[in-house]
Amino acid sequence: MEAIARRIRDVPDFPKPGVVFKDITPLLLDASAFRRAVELMTAPFQGSRVTRVVSIESRGFLLGAPVALALRAGLVPIRKPGKLPAERGRVEYALEYGTDALEMHRDALGSGDRVLIVDDVLATGGTAEAAAKLVRAHSGEVVGFTFLIELDFLKGRERLRGERVEALLHYA
Ligand code: AMP
Repeated sequence: MEAIARRIRDVPDFPKPGVVFKDITPLLLDASAFRRAVELMTAPFQGSRVTRVVSIESRGFLLGAPVALALRAGLVPIRKPGKLPAERGRVEYALEYGTDALEMHRDALGSGDRVLIVDDVLATGGTAEAAAKLVRAHSGEVVGFTFLIELDFLKGRERLRGERVEALLHYA
């Protein structure tokens, strides 16, 4: 775990003043630490009969794809509006100022699909909560969430109350 934590780079004031951005690119450069991180993110859900891994744009894709392969599950991207080409479902969610939206292909999930939601960072939980709403609106069953990093002080986990939430690294 130490080897993984050492490869997360803090970038202060990115993308705006006051935010400490958790940069995962040094981890991606280290093949063995990257592999280990994916194994550890996957392990809690190995017995959960996951059929689809839903990953959230954009760094979620980098982790969601290897997690899906490890679970022998299909991979579904959730994207910002206007990026997906085929028929889409959409969910809007509140930001600090204004709203944002996420989209998913309508044919990506069906009833009986057991879904694991993957992203790099759990911060306030708004994005993850919206992703779960989108999955459920498409008849998917949310088995749980797995994150590389949880920013505990932002209490995102409270927004996901009642869900199974796993995170490898915690920052207080
Ligand atoms: P939230 O909806 O507040 O939980 O924010 C989660 C989304 O924003 C994830 O997709 C993260 O990639 C990104 N994010 C939020 N805070 C950070 C941070 N400090 N460093 C890197 N990514 C972040």
